[in-house]
Amino acid sequence: MSTPSKPRQWGVTAPISTASPTPHELQLTETLVEALKGYNLFESDQEARKREVVLGKLNTLTKEFVYQVSKKKGFPESLAREAGGKIFTYGSYRLGVHNAGSDIDCLSVLPRHVEREEFFTTMYEMLKEQKEVTEMTAVSDAYVPVIKMHFSGIPIDFVCARLSLARIPDDLELSDNNLLKNLDERCIRSLNGSRVTDDILRLVPNIPAFRIALRCVKLWAKKRAIYSNVMGFFGGVAWAMLVARICQLYPNACAGAIVSRFFRIMYQWNWPQPVLLKHMEDGPLPVRVWNPKLYPADKSHRMPIITPAYPSMCATHNVTDSTRTIMISEFKRAAECVDKIFIGAGQWPELFENHTFFQTYKYYLQVIASSDSAESQLKWSGMVESRLRQLVLKLELVDMLVLAHPYIKPLDRVHYCSTDQEALDAAYGVFNPQTTFALTEGNMDVNHMDLLRENGDSAEGSDPQQEPRKVYTTTFFIGLFIEPKTAGTTGTRKLNISWPCAEFTKLVKAWDKYDEATMGITIKYIKSSMLPADVVEGDPKKLKRPQSKNKTGNPPAVNVEKPNKKMRSGTEEQADNTGMTNPVATGNSEESIATAPPAAEPVST
Ligand code: ATP
Ligand code: MG
Repeated sequence: MSTPSKPRQWGVTAPISTASPTPHELQLTETLVEALKGYNLFESDQEARKREVVLGKLNTLTKEFVYQVSKKKGFPESLAREAGGKIFTYGSYRLGVHNAGSDIDCLSVLPRHVEREEFFTTMYEMLKEQKEVTEMTAVSDAYVPVIKMHFSGIPIDFVCARLSLARIPDDLELSDNNLLKNLDERCIRSLNGSRVTDDILRLVPNIPAFRIALRCVKLWAKKRAIYSNVMGFFGGVAWAMLVARICQLYPNACAGAIVSRFFRIMYQWNWPQPVLLKHMEDGPLPVRVWNPKLYPADKSHRMPIITPAYPSMCATHNVTDSTRTIMISEFKRAAECVDKIFIGAGQWPELFENHTFFQTYKYYLQVIASSDSAESQLKWSGMVESRLRQLVLKLELVDMLVLAHPYIKPLDRVHYCSTDQEALDAAYGVFNPQTTFALTEGNMDVNHMDLLRENGDSAEGSDPQQEPRKVYTTTFFIGLFIEPKTAGTTGTRKLNISWPCAEFTKLVKAWDKYDEATMGITIKYIKSSMLPADVVEGDPKKLKRPQSKNKTGNPPAVNVEKPNKKMRSGTEEQADNTGMTNPVATGNSEESIATAPPAAEPVST
């Protein structure tokens, strides 16, 4: 007697259902694909070819780089050529879910006689000579050291790994754990991206369905402003692993059904139970594998999603209490929305409706990093961005602050300033819209002087022969949700956020490349009505003066009202040693803001 064969298990548990799609689910998948096309998610054949050409050039450059280093080290011609070198793509491009604006994550694999430092010197110089390369920065001291650049306008994250092999042949694969033996930790981390992406593809039962579902989830997460690893939400790889897990649980389902199960299951997930795509492996290295029983740091992960490739790690260690709350409420909203779509009471675009971050909160923190050149701004604002989560974590400890909600997209601007005062103002978020331009990735180096001359704005109040000074600013926003007053509460409540702000300022200024003469950091507490018009309206081109100068001509660093003696009598409002307080007092009728000395120094003049 034959027993029915057990369905193949794709993940760490048996599937929930192996049912095939119903006609209704197939039809909803079709309408989903149509809806996704409307968001310009799929690149054209021409764009796809351009990416292939760029990758071909990077592969050739890698081989040429290995050859040159080999020759320099005295290798004979034939051995220098045979040393090889190869690139691997990983991330969303490798998964097949990238869109027109996506970056390409690319790994350059090098033989053992090429030092990884040489990638950041010799290879960097070789790339610099390419006319197609713009906006290049090397971050060799990052957790995963990377050269970031645009190649023919395509953003590339270029990392490298040096293997213990004499040659890197074209047919090399990276799945063998033994390849990791005797490698530098940075090389292991750099290899990890590629090994994780390949594992995800191996662990998903139906790749076409996975791709459509993941495109849908990524679009939704971006529209709802919860797509950002650095800000404490999930990044690309975490979303990919979550969708992959649902695909494992429904191995025969079509994309529409996967999306619907995805939101429901994620809303109900019993966090901090981890999401795993396979059982974690032991391996040949003396390195940590994620283990909350052994490591207290791992135990603190609020929504752990674990990478499948050895050595497994948590891709979501950045999640804070606030970002977890926000994501779970978004899962709920999405689950309800998709339920409606499934019963014919809604349409897919409703799932992708824009977030309402700038309409949600009554108070916001505005953090501005400023400097005097595009190059240093890229590094400085990147550094501030990478630490912003520390500010959120500290804000979460403040009494009465229920939620500190970081906004995922910082706003980059350049201000053409004709006076020192203007430069100072810009660093505090007070600027002239006529001489200010929004910057987007890929146009950081643009010079707007011709445009200014055309408009006749550049010479206003200044020597027409002298070029105005440029001040670069990057503005981050954190929405603050203050505990509502309970019925019957009387009197004034005070919210003191001076400690988190002071600590954060101290933290970013402790950066070894921080230059007091050219870089600035300010934190300003603003009411929603004072938000810059361009963020509220969602159009960075519509730059309006966000708030006027006060009567003295000095920028209100901590907005907005005159210090209120009554409010300032509280002990929490003592200025700390940076001379900064950012208190808000919530009065009987309406919350109001008490001002204090400037939050931090602006860009130096
Ligand atoms: P996107 O479309 O946003 O570029 P992506 O999947 O390419 O999405 P990236 O943020 O570009 O994601 O990261 C590229 C790769 O780097 C990921 O696929 C992953 O392998 C690795 N990576 C990035 N962030 C993490 C993380 N927090 N933990 C582990 N690996 C990560
Ligand atoms: Mg990517």
